[in-house]
Amino acid sequence: MQTYGVIGDPVEHSLSPPMHRAAYEATGLDADYSRFHVNKGNVEEALRGAKALGLDGLNVTIPHKQAVAETDVVENTEKADEIGAVNTVDLNEMRAYNTDASGARRALEHHNVELDGKSVVIVGAGGAARAIAFEFAEHGTEVAVANRTQEKAFGLADEVSEVRDSEVTGHSLDEIDSLIEGADVLVNATSVGMEEDETPVPRDFLHSRLVVFDIVYTPRRTRLLKQAEEVGAKTVEGSWMLVYQGAEAFEIWTREDAPVEVMDDALKRKLR
Ligand code: NAP
Repeated sequence: MQTYGVIGDPVEHSLSPPMHRAAYEATGLDADYSRFHVNKGNVEEALRGAKALGLDGLNVTIPHKQAVAETDVVENTEKADEIGAVNTVDLNEMRAYNTDASGARRALEHHNVELDGKSVVIVGAGGAARAIAFEFAEHGTEVAVANRTQEKAFGLADEVSEVRDSEVTGHSLDEIDSLIEGADVLVNATSVGMEEDETPVPRDFLHSRLVVFDIVYTPRRTRLLKQAEEVGAKTVEGSWMLVYQGAEAFEIWTREDAPVEVMDDALKRKLR
């Protein structure tokens, strides 16, 4: 039997167990997936302990993604190293991955949104925005990052530009209307809209030529997505990023294709 799990603090509300268990059931894999509460400062011990106990793989959630990337207990992929955050560990190979980044790209691809040659505005410059900016810049996308704390947007843009050898620009939120006017895709990578009826972007700035991807997934239909739909824009829910980061973790651990639709169904049953 294979054993997987997620470490975090808090971790009690993680939706990964139902999503992964549904995948095991659908594929007939003899495996289980549990939540493990790990306190800050105990990450290395947790990884060594999980290996010693014979676990096969772990997902990593807030606040441990950076700490796992910094340990030398596991070896990071180049992408996880660049992003400086890990959300998936293969404990058999002791290798650490960032599947949030590719999860965001695959969420858009699932909706037939190709990134190559497109102009994307990412609102936010935190951990999720960072993963998305690195991933999208790698796929031929022109990326603009706008953030409330503008220095963080400038810093992220400089770093991605240097590593990816592509032009990524940083902006304050004051510039968001003109950025969106010329953009193909808008990504909300802030926490605005999570458990509250708020949006980081005024409705007047949205237009029908946009694809609007809100990575906030509680609620599934955020105010931003509802308003985007009202102006005729195509919308992509954040739950798809959660599904695809999980699907990619499944594929890393099992070397089999993930049953994406089954994982999506399991997740949607848990989300409002
Ligand atoms: P984080 O590192 O804490 O970053 C939060 C970002 O939100 C920062 O850019 C922050 O701006 C901005 N922000 C917060 N409050 C704001 C406000 N009132 N107005 C404008 N900007 C504001 O968080 P994170 O890990 O990147 O996560 C961000 C969101 O993405 C969370 O809701 C998380 O649940 C979601 N997420 C979803 C997935 C998925 O699979 N769908 C994966 C990862 C994360 P400042 O820099 O100015 O503080």
